[in-house]
Amino acid sequence: MFSQASGADRLNAFAGMFSLHNRLKKVMILGDVQTEKVLVVEGSSDRKKVQKILNEEVDILCTNGTISYQKMDSFVDELYDKDVYILTDSDESGDKLRKQFKREIPNARHLYIDRTYREVAAAPDYHIAAVLLGANFAIHTEYLYKG
Ligand code: MG
Repeated sequence: MFSQASGADRLNAFAGMFSLHNRLKKVMILGDVQTEKVLVVEGSSDRKKVQKILNEEVDILCTNGTISYQKMDSFVDELYDKDVYILTDSDESGDKLRKQFKREIPNARHLYIDRTYREVAAAPDYHIAAVLLGANFAIHTEYLYKG
């Protein structure tokens, strides 16, 4: 009787150790891989502008307007383990999007263009270049001097 119980205990202990080991392994693997950078913008003209200025591999995601609960869910699923940067317009709808992202992806970093330009796509290249550089993105530095 005693030895049976202790056998079951040993089995449980082993199972516990095994699952802990698997969890630790997962953490170590995640820790090894460099986190993928994702930059969230509103539209394809923003994407184009940011893409030409960046000098590193960055995934650029477009919100394409307002975000429904379902759409936000899929964003969260896709972004939870990534290094997320938010660059929306400096206007009312851009602010609303930021609010949603702050609630759903609180670790995301928010980049802001000057409010006088309002839109990412309308801001001069040198301004976008400076904003990206300020967030430690590698950029084509010649854009710092171009309109
Ligand atoms: Mg806008």
